[in-house]
Amino acid sequence: MFSIHGTGIGGGIAIGRARVLESRQRDVPRYRLRADQLDAELLRLETAIEVVRAELGALGEHLPEDAPSEARALLDVHVMILDDPLLAQAARDAMRAHLWNAEWAFSAQAGHMAAQFEEIDDEYLRERGRDVQQVAERVIRVLSGSTAGATAAAEPVIFVAADISPADMLSLRAAIGFGIDLGGATSHTAILARSMNVPAVVGLGCAGQLVVDDDWLILDGEAGLLIVAPDETVLADYRRRQAAELLERERRKWLIHLPTVTADGVAVQLQANIERPEEAGRVVSAGASGVGLFRTEFLFMNRRDLPGEDEQFEAYREAVAAMDGLPVTIRTLDVGADKSVPALRGSTPQNPALGQRAIRYCLAEPEVFLEQLRAILRASAFGRARLLLPMLAHSHEIDQALRLVEVAREQLRKRGQSFDADIAVGGMVEVPAAALTAGLFVRKLDFLSIGTNDLIQYTLAIDRSDHDVASLYEPFHPAVLRLVGVTIRTARKAGKPVAVCGEMAGDWAATHLLLGMGLTEFSMHPASLLRVKQEILRADTSRLAPRVARLLATDDPLRVRALLARLVEDH
Ligand code: PEP
Ligand code: MG
Repeated sequence: MFSIHGTGIGGGIAIGRARVLESRQRDVPRYRLRADQLDAELLRLETAIEVVRAELGALGEHLPEDAPSEARALLDVHVMILDDPLLAQAARDAMRAHLWNAEWAFSAQAGHMAAQFEEIDDEYLRERGRDVQQVAERVIRVLSGSTAGATAAAEPVIFVAADISPADMLSLRAAIGFGIDLGGATSHTAILARSMNVPAVVGLGCAGQLVVDDDWLILDGEAGLLIVAPDETVLADYRRRQAAELLERERRKWLIHLPTVTADGVAVQLQANIERPEEAGRVVSAGASGVGLFRTEFLFMNRRDLPGEDEQFEAYREAVAAMDGLPVTIRTLDVGADKSVPALRGSTPQNPALGQRAIRYCLAEPEVFLEQLRAILRASAFGRARLLLPMLAHSHEIDQALRLVEVAREQLRKRGQSFDADIAVGGMVEVPAAALTAGLFVRKLDFLSIGTNDLIQYTLAIDRSDHDVASLYEPFHPAVLRLVGVTIRTARKAGKPVAVCGEMAGDWAATHLLLGMGLTEFSMHPASLLRVKQEILRADTSRLAPRVARLLATDDPLRVRALLARLVEDH
C-alpha cells in the first residue's frame, strides 16, 4: 500500500480498480525519409488530421443530453488547434526541410508550441499548452495506427493517466474517478471532472507510472489523495466513509421540499452560480430559488471572436426564461486576471489581477460594454433579470456604469425593443475599498453581492490561482471576516438586499458564521445547496448573532478558527 498526494477537485470518495491510460510520453517513431517518400508521408499526415477532425466531430454530435456544458466548447478548442497553421503547416514545413517522418515533425512542433504556452504568465493560457499536446497525441495515435487511447471500459473504473484530454474524458462514461498527474485546479480537465461530479485528483505527479491496471485504488477527491493497493483496514474505513457520504447525500434530497427557514423563523434565499445558460433550468431541481451569479465571461472564452449582441441576448434570454420568474443575476463581463478572453483588445498587464479587469475593462471599452448591456436588458423582458457589476472600487465607476445602462436603455427605446424598465442594478463587493465604503455603494445601487474569492485575494495580497502561496489563502482571516461583516451590516441598515456569491457561501462550515452576521442570501455551486440548507434549518440566528459579534472582535486567526468550530458544533 502507498499513497500519492495531489490537488483534490472534489466529488467525494471513489473505490475501484485502476485503468491506466496510455501515456502520451511514449516514444514517438523518428526516422528520416528518402526524398521520393515525402509526398506519400505528407498525405499520411493529411489523412490522420482528417481522421482526428472526424473523431472530434463525431464526439460533438453524440454528446449526451446531460454532458457538461463546457464539453462542446472544449471540443471546439481542439478543432481550432487542429486547424492552426502554426501546428499543421509548421509540421509539414519541418517534414520538407528535414525529411522527418510525420510523427516526428508533428510531435516536435506540438512540443515547441506547448513550450511557448508554458512561458505565459496567465494560468488559463498556460493550460492551453496541454490542449495542444492532447491534440498532438490524438494525431500521433492515428498515425501509428494505435487505437489504444482513452477507450471506454465495460465496468466502472478509476482512470489514471499522465494526462487525459477533455475530449477523451467525454468518452470515458464508465469513470467513477480520475487520477491525473498533470494540471492544476483550473485546467480544462479539472473543470470537466468537477462538472461531471465524480471524484478527481490532479497534479499527482507520477501516478501514471506507479499504478498498474487492475490495482485497487481509493481516490479521495476532497483530500486530494490516491491510495494504491490499500490494505483491508484502510479499505474498510474508506468503504464506511463512502457509504456514509452516499447515504447522507440521499437523505438530504428530501430537504428540497422544505422551505429554507432557520430554526428561529428567518427566511433565507438559496441561489445557484452558473457559467452557461443551459445550466439555469437544472438548478431549480437542485434546490435553488434563483441564479445568484451568472458568470457571463464564460460565453466569451474558448473562441476567437466575440459573441455579438444577438448571440448574447439569446444566451441571457435562455437562462431568464428557464428560471420562469425566479431571479437571474447576470454579471457583466468579469474578464481579466485568470479569465482571459483572446478576442478582446488590450495589452498584457504586468500584474493582471490588479490591472484593467472586469468593470475597468468595460468602462474603457464602452462599445463592448453597451453591447452586453443591451443584450441583458432585452433578456429582462422575458423574466426576472438583475444586472450585477463586478470589481467595483470607486464610486465614479458606479456612476459611469449607470450612465451607460441609461444609454443602452435609450438605444433600445429608439429601436422599439422592450425591456424591464425597473431592472435592479447591483454591485459586487470584491475589493476591500468597496467593503469599507459600502455606505456610498448602497446609496447608488439596488443590491450588493459579496465575492469572497476576490475579497480574500485582495485583502491578503494572495493570488488565488498561485499554488506557491495557496497555503496563505485563508478565508477565515479576521480581516476578511470583518470586511464581510461590515458589508452585510451596511446593506441591511440601508434596507438593501445583500448576498454572498463567492465560494464561502457554499462552504457549510461558514453557514452559521454568515447567518450570525445577518446574511439571508447565499449563492453557490448547485452541488453544495442542500448541505448548506441542512445547516440553515438547524441554525438559531438569535443565538448566533452575539457569538459572531465576539468572533469578529478577535484578532487571532487560530482563535477565530476555534470559535468557528464551536459555532458549528454547538448547533
Ligand atoms: C468572487 O470573486 O468571489 C466571485 C464570485 O467572482 P469570481 O469567482 O468569478 O471571480
Ligand atoms: Mg470575483
